[in-house]
Amino acid sequence: MNKSFLEYNKNGMVFYTIPSFDRTGLVTHAFSGRKGGVSEDSFASLNLSILTKEPLERVWENRNKFLNLFNIKTENLVGSYQVHKDRIYKVTKEDRGRGAFDPATVIPATDALMTNEKEVPLIAFFADCVPVFFLDPINKAVALAHAGWKGTVAKIAAKTAGAMKDAYGTESKDLLVAIGPSIGPCHYQVDEPVIEKVKEAFPLEWESLLTNCTDDGHGQLNLWEANRLQLLEVGIPNDNITIAGLCTYCHQDKLFSHRASMAGRQAAIIMLK
Ligand SMILES: [Zn+2]
Repeated sequence: MNKSFLEYNKNGMVFYTIPSFDRTGLVTHAFSGRKGGVSEDSFASLNLSILTKEPLERVWENRNKFLNLFNIKTENLVGSYQVHKDRIYKVTKEDRGRGAFDPATVIPATDALMTNEKEVPLIAFFADCVPVFFLDPINKAVALAHAGWKGTVAKIAAKTAGAMKDAYGTESKDLLVAIGPSIGPCHYQVDEPVIEKVKEAFPLEWESLLTNCTDDGHGQLNLWEANRLQLLEVGIPNDNITIAGLCTYCHQDKLFSHRASMAGRQAAIIMLK
């Protein structure tokens, strides 16, 4: 297994890439950190989501600044309104610009985006929830999924792999997947209703996903492992899975964390070249 992402620092902005994705030469991709932007207070400073309570002008400026590093055009971005469910949307060139500037144009109620078209940059937003990146280097297709605990127990990562198979003929054995920076088992305490859903979704493995369980019904949930297990279950080889292993709460200097009362959002971006 590839155990980590690479970290970069350019023009004051920190970001991360996936070595196995880089090696294919097929995609431009990144996961942004929170430094180097123009946003203030709890949005400080590289807030990239147009669906927060911040003036849009600042987000547009942040997006331009960040995307310039990768030669991605802001006006082509395709984003969705993420609702912690499991709808997956097949993006085409006609969708370019949905969510680029105007919140009213985003793809509604969708937590995973996929495409096999070039020069169509997909974007999704995070501040503790798990970003899952997908690249099929054989059929040349990509996807992004947003997996908080609800998306994780709904198995959105496994379903995205299945949707890529249906849409593009993606074989699990070829699919490269990466689990990005997000809240780690070190800081993700959950309560009884969440624990019950984890037990239902992972009847055989739940004990390995929950640690420090207390008599009053709390435990620490490992979302990274819950996503890795469901990817293995649909036939993705362990060697194809990269895990950043970087906790947003632990690294508040570099990353937004919702649990640390930050309102800004970092972005996962991927585009076929
Ligand atoms: Zn942590």
